[in-house]
Amino acid sequence: MTSNTVPPGPDAPAPAGPSNFIRDIMVEDAETGKFQGRVHTRFPPEPNGYLHIGHAKSICLNFGLAKEFGGKTNLRFDDTNPEKEEQEYVDSIMEDVHWLGADWENRCFYASDYFGQLYEWAIQLIKVGKAYVCDLSAEEVRKYRGTLTEPGTPSPYRNRSVEENLDLFQRMKAGEFPDGSRTLRAKIDMASPNLNMRDPVMYRILRATHHRTGDDWCIYPMYDYAHGQSDSIERITHSICTLEFEDHRPLYDWFCDELGIYHPQQIEFDRLNITYTLLSKRKLLQLVRDGHVRGWDDPRMPTLSGFRRRGYTPEAIRSFVGSIGVSKTNGIVELGLLEHHLREDLNKRAPRVMAVLRPLRVVIDNYPEGQVEALEAVNNPEDESAGKRQVPFSRELCIEQDDFREDPPKQYFRLSPGREVRLRYGYFITCTGVVKDAAGNVTEIHCTYDPATRGGNAPDGRRVKSTIHWVSAAHAVDAEVRIYENLFTKENPSEVEEGQDFTANLNPNSLEVLTGCKLEPSLANVKPPAHFQFERLGYFSVDPDSAPGKPVFNRTVALRDTWAKIEKREKGK
Ligand code: ATP
Ligand code: MG
Repeated sequence: MTSNTVPPGPDAPAPAGPSNFIRDIMVEDAETGKFQGRVHTRFPPEPNGYLHIGHAKSICLNFGLAKEFGGKTNLRFDDTNPEKEEQEYVDSIMEDVHWLGADWENRCFYASDYFGQLYEWAIQLIKVGKAYVCDLSAEEVRKYRGTLTEPGTPSPYRNRSVEENLDLFQRMKAGEFPDGSRTLRAKIDMASPNLNMRDPVMYRILRATHHRTGDDWCIYPMYDYAHGQSDSIERITHSICTLEFEDHRPLYDWFCDELGIYHPQQIEFDRLNITYTLLSKRKLLQLVRDGHVRGWDDPRMPTLSGFRRRGYTPEAIRSFVGSIGVSKTNGIVELGLLEHHLREDLNKRAPRVMAVLRPLRVVIDNYPEGQVEALEAVNNPEDESAGKRQVPFSRELCIEQDDFREDPPKQYFRLSPGREVRLRYGYFITCTGVVKDAAGNVTEIHCTYDPATRGGNAPDGRRVKSTIHWVSAAHAVDAEVRIYENLFTKENPSEVEEGQDFTANLNPNSLEVLTGCKLEPSLANVKPPAHFQFERLGYFSVDPDSAPGKPVFNRTVALRDTWAKIEKREKGK
């Protein structure tokens, strides 16, 4: 069997696409029978914030690999830090994991489910002289730990007797000592080159109400003491985590070995980083708390709920994550790649409609007043089954301000005085006049149309260089449209001058709200999360702020703007 095939079996279809080193390990383990051929993974978020797109990578890996191998995946909340964890986050995480298409079935667990067992295991380690109660303060523990170049100094409490340790630890649990006054530490090696092995703290005293266990406990296990044992209890086979935990693996292994319990394999992979994007719950929380964005689901946020509200599809995110691969070194992925996968997906599914974001009034002088006709428009050229619809056409229309120039530059082929263009699905029109306000701004343009060009072609074979979109003014639905740019101006938002933090790189123009946009009438009663392509403008989706007859749209992503490129090139000359 080659390394990128999966063991055959009814539940194990051969994987599509290139392999990765984690899959290779699973294939090898299946061959050697390491876990009796089982694959059981887990996705272990801490409920201290909303999930971001980095988590999507972990979700796709854990759930995707297990599915490929006919295995299972648990959802496990790593809830050992009651000060930062909340039910709201638990709920949002479940919603987001499901939205991505992953299913933990009936296997949702919490590290806090294991507090009793973890406590028993701590007693076991004390009894064999592998853990002790230490009275050093957090500050002192840090000092005694030493540095990468200097060994640590043993705590003066390191050699307490088993009896004293048992007594003190039980009294810690019983609430006899103040917060932070004592810890339980693993007795490993204060001279280890790996700082994590220098008698790491296993338990701290903390009086904080836990979102699930309430005030039952006043001692809480540390991540390193809880994580591997939770994996072990759930009989996880491959415990996949990000590279920063590589140095914690010896400790993960030490706890399992010293306790003599079932031992899963920890495997580290690279964290997802994306240009112009911050992926850290702590920093995202700061953006929310300080009001830099409207909430965790603000469409500018890299959270799954933000992407969802913006109009991203789970398919696009999964396809992006699948394309970036898995490796052993951290890198950074272009935001453009994510947008590419999004456009590919929306191109297939999004119905085309006409919407004018910055309207300019057009009067067609030779079109009969009061006449309305229905023109046939294609819903999706990529999908014939999407069918056709009727769009009303009348004497007064709205077009995009950008689609008219009184004084057109070279290479500009849209409407201008004397110029003829095609109205999408409609007629050829020629601009005959311009109305201006006192300040000299164009407020209305006048045109004539050629009735023989209905549907968009001239019987005499004459051609026009441009096709523009439009809506009938009397039939248009007014809408608010929110246009988003990157939330940060720097590729690496964390790169700042001394004394500043990442908020210094916030893009002041990341949100532009347009009101009085004109939509074709088929969009009057749309509901989230419907996706559309506004022809020539981009992909847009319905925001939950919409009310009947008053839609609000988010620009999900622009189409590639060729004109902006030409203009930039011209200016650069
Ligand atoms: P953050 O720094 O944003 O708080 P975290 O790693 O502390 O992230 P957890 O809730 O502990 O967040 O993460 C759950 C799982 O998701 C972990 O296995 C973690 O390694 C993984 N994960 C988190 N961020 C990323 C990322 N950017 N790329 C890939 N996996 C990630
Ligand atoms: Mg964390």
